[in-house]
Amino acid sequence: MKMDLHCHSEASKDCRTPIHDFPDLLLRRGIAVQAITDHNEIWGAVALRTLVRALSLDDRLTIIVGEEVSTRDGEIIGLFLHDRIPAGMSAEDTVRAIRDQGGLVLLPHGFDPLKRHRLRPEALERVRDEIDIVESFNARVSNVRYNAEAGEWAAKRDLPASAGSDAHTDDQVGECWVQTPDRSVTTPEDLLGALRSGDIIGKWTHPAIAFVAKQLHGFRKNSLRSPSRAS
Ligand SMILES: [Zn+2]
Repeated sequence: MKMDLHCHSEASKDCRTPIHDFPDLLLRRGIAVQAITDHNEIWGAVALRTLVRALSLDDRLTIIVGEEVSTRDGEIIGLFLHDRIPAGMSAEDTVRAIRDQGGLVLLPHGFDPLKRHRLRPEALERVRDEIDIVESFNARVSNVRYNAEAGEWAAKRDLPASAGSDAHTDDQVGECWVQTPDRSVTTPEDLLGALRSGDIIGKWTHPAIAFVAKQLHGFRKNSLRSPSRAS
């Protein structure tokens, strides 16, 4: 089965993929476990989990409630959250807030110097023993070598590696994943076990191309919008 642990929805200011489009998108792309990790919000992930239950799709789709938190030291993802974690805290306090909820700490695109919001190296150094999962394949890093660097960092610490589409448009959902033998993933422990027995599979998109795709996508949606609804 396929697991993608980094994805955005309409709950992120820079993404428009509607929550109600996700069940169909995920089923079509064969993703069984999807973490929704909006910027500083969890309402989209919670709404999607509720929708999946309402559609009786629980046996085919697992939604992990996550958040990509803008700490004052850069971005950190929390998984298995119950409450929104506020932006703007230090990396240490953010990690503590994730732990207090029984969540897992995932380091996204941590080694890409061109990602403005990556966790800064000195902050990573401070919280390195608190990282549970290292995103070793992010489909949107500026150069594939930064994924390799993340993979090496994870391997050195014997930490499980994850893949994240970091999708900001519907066509990017499920672009990369961890392929793992079928199992249920309902707890943090389940997820860590599934990651450890998984393989990372994905397609890396050159950022210039991703940028153009994002602009075109925005344009297409804008041009479909009726003038009366534009504000
Ligand atoms: Zn992201």
